[in-house]
Amino acid sequence: MQVLNFDIEQESWMLEGACSNLDSDLFFPVGSSMKAMKKSLEAKAICNECPVKLDCLEYALNTNQDSGIWGGTTEDERKSIRREYRKTGNLINY
Ligand code: SF4
Repeated sequence: MQVLNFDIEQESWMLEGACSNLDSDLFFPVGSSMKAMKKSLEAKAICNECPVKLDCLEYALNTNQDSGIWGGTTEDERKSIRREYRKTGNLINY
């Protein structure tokens, strides 16, 4: 299980996340096995219904989260989103 350091007062959106009462392991699938891919898809489906999805993605981009599902994206997906985000400062196309 990954331990995250954050200031809950600054990151209060986290309390509203659809995952706030779920096992965080679901959002940190390990490897590329079928089981890990299934976990990843399940986590992304939860993110897609989450009211703070963009806050979450922006946080992940700003803090260089390089593992796990954040804002409905995998680490590889965030790499390409990050390039555009750094150029434009927004997530309009996301
Ligand atoms: S977008 Fe996904 S990972 Fe982020 S707070 Fe919502 S459910 Fe959790």
